[in-house]
Amino acid sequence: MAAVMSVWLLAACGTTPTPIITPAISPPAPTASPTPTASPTLTPSLTATPTSTPTPTPTPTPTATVTPTPTITPTSTPTPGPTPDGVLRRIRVPVLMYHYISTPPAGAHPYRVGNSLAPDVFNAHLDYLQQEGYTTIQLKDLISYLATGAPQLPPKPIVLTFDDGYADSYFNAFPALQAHNMIGTFFIITDFATQAADDPTYADYATWDQLREMAAAGMEIGSHSRNHPDLAGKDLDYLVWQALGSKETIEAEIGAHPHILAYPSGSYDQLVIDVFRSAHFWGAVTTQQGTLQDSDHLFEIKRLRISHDTAVPQLAALLAYDWPD
Ligand SMILES: [Zn+2]
Repeated sequence: MAAVMSVWLLAACGTTPTPIITPAISPPAPTASPTPTASPTLTPSLTATPTSTPTPTPTPTPTATVTPTPTITPTSTPTPGPTPDGVLRRIRVPVLMYHYISTPPAGAHPYRVGNSLAPDVFNAHLDYLQQEGYTTIQLKDLISYLATGAPQLPPKPIVLTFDDGYADSYFNAFPALQAHNMIGTFFIITDFATQAADDPTYADYATWDQLREMAAAGMEIGSHSRNHPDLAGKDLDYLVWQALGSKETIEAEIGAHPHILAYPSGSYDQLVIDVFRSAHFWGAVTTQQGTLQDSDHLFEIKRLRISHDTAVPQLAALLAYDWPD
């Protein structure tokens, strides 16, 4: 299911039917089954340069521009995450999960259709949230609050997340958010954003220029991996390549550590959490439905999925529902 979604995503993103990247990358088969209890000790190897590339040889791609060599400058000083103070905090904070904010072209793939919200409906969402007294916050503030109790959150906090870094994030979501004095959290597939500027296959994705403008206006930029593979079951080297590669690209392009991650297709296991935590990520969002967030699950933050048919009444129902743990 998750693998299929990933292929859909790629197919939906290009003009050519693209059997791109993902299949070619498959790393050495994971030997051990990734039981969530496994290996908590990972920290040392993460300072290494990401030489361990399971090289993504893009054989079938028409434009063979998928450069495996990371354009990574180890610029930034690693900002350690908020140190958890050990206090168990539970708070109900909805984290909405949007994908496309646009009307799909005729004949679009079902994935594209199902994950597209029309811009006028999105505007109505923002009107509704404003009228109901919600305040948009950055995901990293929610995580920091859960871990340490600071910063204080506003009375009705909400996080608006946008997966995949589509161009309509820039053209449609961003101006609508600004018109409402709201902020959003955008999860970027960093290789695709890099390609977006000059490879038509990636024309559906926002460019770094656009993302820089959004970040400068207060939008939060997070990692959605380098190229959107399923991360569960992958080995350490591959995960380090995904974590450091996406992190350092965002640092180089945006000028700040991303801190936050959305698992591609919601796929993760304990090793994924450990690697990204070691790369100084503070937390991550899943595709699990819910609104009750707690300090023991900073890398398993729940979201509410917004689909093409989530109009305002459906959004209101999602927010009013008493989601269990
Ligand atoms: Zn995605």
